[in-house]
Amino acid sequence: MGEPIAIGRWSVRVIECGGLRLDGGAMFGSVPRVIWERCIEPDAQHRIPLATRLLLLEDSESDHVVVVDAGVGDKEDSSFRDRFAVQFPQGEDEPPLRRAIRSHGVDPDRVTDLIITHLHFDHVGGATALDESGISCPVFPSATHWIQQANWNTAIDPNPREKASYMPHNIEPLEGTRLQKIDGDGEILPGITVERVDGHTLGMQTIRVEGGGQVLRYLTDLAPTRHHLRVAWTMGYDISAITVIEEKARILEVALEEQAILILEHDPDSATARIEMKNGKISPVAE
Ligand SMILES: [Zn+2]
Repeated sequence: MGEPIAIGRWSVRVIECGGLRLDGGAMFGSVPRVIWERCIEPDAQHRIPLATRLLLLEDSESDHVVVVDAGVGDKEDSSFRDRFAVQFPQGEDEPPLRRAIRSHGVDPDRVTDLIITHLHFDHVGGATALDESGISCPVFPSATHWIQQANWNTAIDPNPREKASYMPHNIEPLEGTRLQKIDGDGEILPGITVERVDGHTLGMQTIRVEGGGQVLRYLTDLAPTRHHLRVAWTMGYDISAITVIEEKARILEVALEEQAILILEHDPDSATARIEMKNGKISPVAE
């Protein structure tokens, strides 16, 4: 367990909430397999291992404890778990998201806010869990849940392309929480800004934390692994590759100026990355 990163008033922990495997070709879009398989090795079913890596932020000036994204969760049946090789964090008998938080020495009952980057199952599934009667319920019923309005609208009435990723039992129970639907960019808590992007899915939000002269950015599916920090490397899952390229170029250019610490939600090996300009192209700094 790594030391927390201090960003102004926020103490930021990067926490692992299990993982999953997704088809390598779908993760790397138009990048040929002979190239991507040298980056992340696929298994016999052509899947690559991916982390589900979250942020846990504690405010030194208030009682705010903020979690960004929630992992897959454990509501799905064994055929789903096998198909995606879903892994859970170790710990006692409670929902995986609570186990992941507790394993970092933080009492999950202290969580006040959950920022959901978008409502695809591997980002929000862990925000709900089945109760004794098998009903999906929020893991943090009294926390404020932050989501882009545009993504909420997409998720409750999904297009055929994304329907399998937006699962009603991950989404509908959140209506019973303090749900803050955000419209575009904005500072939602002191030093924590969300920025709306639309290329991966409509109304995804990336997270920017600033303080004490430092910036940390959680890129979510704009750059799920360090390999996707190359601007042209998009995913087959993205609804618009061109929009992702434009959004990624814009955000990474600013991140380069800010010398931001970048957090990679799905990279199987690297939790963080920094970028540099190399031969006129933004590239991840080699570790
Ligand atoms: Zn996604």
